[in-house]
Amino acid sequence: MSAPADFTRPLPRPTALSEPFWAGCREGKLLVQQCANCRAHVFIPREFCPFCHGETLEWVVGSGCGTVVTYTAVWRAQTPAFEVPYVVAVVRLAEGYEMLTNIVGVPPEEVRIGAAVRVHFVPVTTEITLPCFRLDPDAEDAQ
Ligand SMILES: [Zn+2]
Repeated sequence: MSAPADFTRPLPRPTALSEPFWAGCREGKLLVQQCANCRAHVFIPREFCPFCHGETLEWVVGSGCGTVVTYTAVWRAQTPAFEVPYVVAVVRLAEGYEMLTNIVGVPPEEVRIGAAVRVHFVPVTTEITLPCFRLDPDAEDAQ
C-alpha cells in the first residue's frame, strides 16, 4: 500500500549547524563531525565536543558502514504518509557513533541485531536526501 498523495512525510529541517550533514547526503557522502582535540566522532551535529568540550569540530566523510544495534518494525504508522511496514533502527557506525535511521530494501523479518549494514541514500526532495541503510552482504555480521 502506498501513501496517499495528499499526505506528506514529515522531513528533517536542516539548521545552520546540520546543513553540512544534509549537503553531504545530497552528494552521497555520510559526513560526521570529528573533534580536532580528542579525535572522537560526534553525531548529532554539535557546537562543541561532548567528550572533551573541544570547540573545533571538523566535518569528515565517514565509512557509511555499521551494524544494527536495535530495531523495530512499524506495521501501523502514526500518519498515512508512511508506507508500512518499515524498519526503524539504531545503527552503530564503524567510527563509533550511533544514528537513528531506517533499514530499507528487505522485509522486516530479515533484519537482525548485529547485522552489517551500509548507508543507502534516498532522495526525497531537492533539499532532503535521507541516509537510510541496507543489509551489507559483503560484510560480516557482529556476534
Ligand atoms: Zn573531543
